[in-house]
Amino acid sequence: MSLNKLNQLYLAVLMDHANHPHHKSSLPDATKSVELHNVSCGDDIRVFIKTKADRIEEISFTGNGCTISQASASMMTDALKDLTIPVAIKTCDDFFQLTMGKTLTSKAKKALGDAAILGSLAEFPARIKCATLAWHAAKEAVGGEIK
Ligand code: ZN
Repeated sequence: MSLNKLNQLYLAVLMDHANHPHHKSSLPDATKSVELHNVSCGDDIRVFIKTKADRIEEISFTGNGCTISQASASMMTDALKDLTIPVAIKTCDDFFQLTMGKTLTSKAKKALGDAAILGSLAEFPARIKCATLAWHAAKEAVGGEIK
C-alpha cells in the first residue's frame, strides 16, 4: 500500500505517532505482557499492562515494525490507558470492526482517539494485520477472548 493514498491529515497524525510513539518502553512492574508477531510484514510488538483492581493503570509497548504497526501501537496505548478492563476489551473489538470497514458510532470512534483514522485501512486488507497487532496483544493481556 502506498501511504500517499491516505488522507494527508491522517498521514500527518500517523507519522507523528510512528516518529514519536507514546508509551514506548517496557514496564518493569507490569502485571502482564503479551508479545505477538505479524509474520506477513515482520512486525513484533510486546504490550505491557499494569492493572489495579479492574483498571488499566499503565500500558506500554516495545517492538519493531512498519510505520502502521508502530503508530497503531502508540494510538492503542493512548486509547486504552485508564480504561476498565471490560471497556478496554470493547474498545479493542470496536477497533477490529473499524479496520474491517464497519462504521462505528461517534461515541465509539471518540473512544478510539487517533486510532479512529485507521479505519481507512479497510481498503488495504494486507495492512490490517499491521494495525491490529498491538490491539490483539492488548486484548490478550487483559484476558479478552481472542477470536
Ligand atoms: Zn506491518
